[in-house]
Amino acid sequence: MIDTPSLKLSDVRKQYGNHTALGGVSFEVPQGSIFGLLGPNGAGKTTLIRMVAGITGPDSGEIDFFGNALTRDDVKHIGYLPEERGLYKNMRVGEQAMYFARLRGMSNEFAEKELRGWFERLEVDGWWDKEVADLSKGMAQKIQFIVAVLHNPKLLILDEPLSGFDPINAARIRTEINRLRDENGTTILLSTHDMSSVDELCDHVALINHGTKILDGPVASLRENARKGKIDLKFRGNLISFTAALGAGAILHSAESKGENIHEVVLGLPTSIPIEQFIKWVASEVDVLSCSPRIISMDDVFLQAVKNSEAS
Ligand code: ADP
Repeated sequence: MIDTPSLKLSDVRKQYGNHTALGGVSFEVPQGSIFGLLGPNGAGKTTLIRMVAGITGPDSGEIDFFGNALTRDDVKHIGYLPEERGLYKNMRVGEQAMYFARLRGMSNEFAEKELRGWFERLEVDGWWDKEVADLSKGMAQKIQFIVAVLHNPKLLILDEPLSGFDPINAARIRTEINRLRDENGTTILLSTHDMSSVDELCDHVALINHGTKILDGPVASLRENARKGKIDLKFRGNLISFTAALGAGAILHSAESKGENIHEVVLGLPTSIPIEQFIKWVASEVDVLSCSPRIISMDDVFLQAVKNSEAS
């Protein structure tokens, strides 16, 4: 049986005056996925996220949360880390975290125990009595991350979650995001304009451009489709007989001689031919020195999708 998606958006639209921020967006976020909402600045990601977090409503269209229309009551199962940082400057860190926990209906004792655990895990345990005003952007973001996940939400929404972090702390947050998904089954919806961060984190994505979804699906299959079966192959053997043997099975995009009967070629493999089968065949024809399917970055996937959407 296929699980009900955590989120299902159907033809969601939002207008600001004459400006269409979202022009009818539909996609599903599978349960337990780390789902990236990708697109350049101004694409409409924050507008969409704020609707899912229950802060604003769409002008039209539907948002379903675990199979039912999203209501105010669902907000207690949602954690939200907004892009703009919203801690009160004149409070101490621990005091403020406790305040947010109590807003979530947690008892003092439970909230403090949970918070101390999180502070330790994110290595901020020395900060409990610090003034919020003394925190750097990254430090404040860590505290807000903790506040967003403390009540163990079914859906965690993160708007540009890695933007304020140095590489070490960004890696730490990535680890926590993965752990929440793996250990708690949390569904994570995150937005970013940094496509490369997706490669290490997301299993599904939707690409948004000018308020329109131009592509969505599992990261692996989007990459596979965009790759169009390109393979880099280096071999020792006869290029002409190899090309003849390829026949209609694959296309030779380019070939470069590296001397002593060694060649570097780029091949195009139709998606109908499984790559493993093709590699086995190549190995039976020539002496393979290296063979690697071309890895396409999410940047390339996005650019290709933009080009295709503008051409159609
Ligand atoms: P993203 O998060 O992808 O950068 P946003 O959702 O913030 O994009 O913005 C989408 C578009 O809607 C932008 O052109 C932005 O200027 C516009 N927009 C967003 N919020 C408002 C608002 N409150 N009033 C008017 N225009 C807005």
